[in-house]
Amino acid sequence: MAGFDRDTRARDLARMADAAVDMLVIGGGITGAGVAREAALRGLVVALVEARDFASGTSSRSSKLIHGGLRYREQGEIALVREAATERRALRRIAPHRTRVMPMLVPVYGRTTAGVYKLRVGLTLFDKLAAVAGPERHKILSRAEVIAAEPGILADRLQGAAVYPEYVTDDARLVLDTLKAAHHAGAMLANYARVTSFGAPAKRRTVEIRDEESGATLTIRPTVIVNAAGPWVDRIFALDLPSRPTSLQLTKGIHLVFRAADLPARHCVVMRARDGRPLFAVPRGAYVYVGTTDTLYEGPLEEPTVTPADAAYLLESVARSFPATSLTPHSAIGAWAGLRPLIREEGKSPSEISRKDEITVSGNGLITIAGGKLTTYRRMAERVLVAARPLLGTVQAEVDTAELPIAGGDLGPANDLAAFAAALGREHAGIPVPTIERLVDTYGSDAREVLETAGSATALAPFTADVPLSPADVRYAVRHEMARTLTDVLERRSRISYFATASATTIAPLVVEVIAEELGWDTRRREAELASFARDAHARLAWRDAQERAA
Ligand code: FAD
Repeated sequence: MAGFDRDTRARDLARMADAAVDMLVIGGGITGAGVAREAALRGLVVALVEARDFASGTSSRSSKLIHGGLRYREQGEIALVREAATERRALRRIAPHRTRVMPMLVPVYGRTTAGVYKLRVGLTLFDKLAAVAGPERHKILSRAEVIAAEPGILADRLQGAAVYPEYVTDDARLVLDTLKAAHHAGAMLANYARVTSFGAPAKRRTVEIRDEESGATLTIRPTVIVNAAGPWVDRIFALDLPSRPTSLQLTKGIHLVFRAADLPARHCVVMRARDGRPLFAVPRGAYVYVGTTDTLYEGPLEEPTVTPADAAYLLESVARSFPATSLTPHSAIGAWAGLRPLIREEGKSPSEISRKDEITVSGNGLITIAGGKLTTYRRMAERVLVAARPLLGTVQAEVDTAELPIAGGDLGPANDLAAFAAALGREHAGIPVPTIERLVDTYGSDAREVLETAGSATALAPFTADVPLSPADVRYAVRHEMARTLTDVLERRSRISYFATASATTIAPLVVEVIAEELGWDTRRREAELASFARDAHARLAWRDAQERAA
């Protein structure tokens, strides 16, 4: 669909300053993207600004699981179980390309089969509470069945396992597709546009925004302001009421990536850390990623890093759960660290703090949404729109956003990726089938636009054999996905820098040339982009060297 293009940012920034904006959303992570989509579909004049790139905060650094809510049942949060389960089904309808089914395997260890029985009871209750459909209900495997299904798993004292379908997403691309959908519904959007101050409270309060590319300042006068700044919500609060106490407790979670050959997990396997916390090993094509940690965090918000202690915690758990593997720090080929913006609950440990979201409306009319999950972002957005009603003075259209596909999710009546890929393959007989499948896998129904951008099979040939990224992907990212920097392309439009940092570094000089052609960069800009990308890539795996020196 046209419109979300290279000129959108400049055009929308200019429009925001002129328009009578009903709602300004601060933050282009999944929370802000969801609110912008919801508001635009309900007919509001909505603008969203993001200080850096879309999804550059927590929303590109999660475990990428669309949870059914099982964990909340264990914590007794029944309302959250129901909400997560309902939203998971809604996401499957509106984003079939961002909800890949992956079997989750929960092994049970002990001297007797009592643990298997307990798990069976818990899951049966969960299936009922969450109204899980027949084919998605859990199954119990015997010890022999588990060993056959997941041969590398620790066999000592293994009693059996439960298996049930989990959904895996691409978090940054989920944000992007939600933003595209918001834009198609009329939302004005700008990345690299930072809110710097608020004017005095009034019917239409002024908000100063700095264009981080040009340094120019613009002023918007929205009726309602939504603070969806994730780990930064307290900073936006401080612009509103400097004396307000902080509301967030940040915790850090890291993930490490390994080659599938080095950690051959076939399912999304639940492992237990030394402190009993559940960890996941999640297969993703040629890679398996492992996570996550949950530690209190008070450092800089922009680029949290993996420490040797974080990595050691995960490596030790993998070694225990998959005894035949011999992973070392240098087996990790990618990594990321993210911050959970949790609502502060004094006296609780990081894992005990609830994941539920909270909406507050300040005396000055600033609506803040904090906490929450990727999984429930659409429902969170609905609640923000309800909170905004008394402040808006405008009637919102009645729209069921749980039925309208996000960008890339319009697969036709069958709503089936394989059928869509087969039909697209027939339309583009000159393009190899694996290429079509890769494009549909990455872009869903927007694969059609990528093929139009490419124009030929040659433009779709990957830069190198081990990396599924071609010049056509890069051109598409710049022309139709608002990528503004080399890092935007390699970290969030494609996820290569997170999953295979060395490969991303190898192709970076080729990628920068394609972006330079699209955006007219000179040599100095190209060098600056490469240097900035190299710094980020180095920081991502710097813990490996530190760990080796300490050993
Ligand atoms: P963010 O994504 O951080 O977005 C906030 C944005 O606001 C940022 O991009 C920031 O740049 C911008 N901003 C800040 N200040 C300004 C300003 N002044 N002007 C303009 N913009 C500004 N959830 C799941 O459902 N499933 C999972 O598997 C899962 N795993 C997780 C694993 C980890 C390790 C972590 C940390 C979280 C996980 N979550 C998961 C939770 C989920 O990722 C978060 O709840 C969600 O991404 C938060 O999104 P957000 O939009 O609120 O914040």
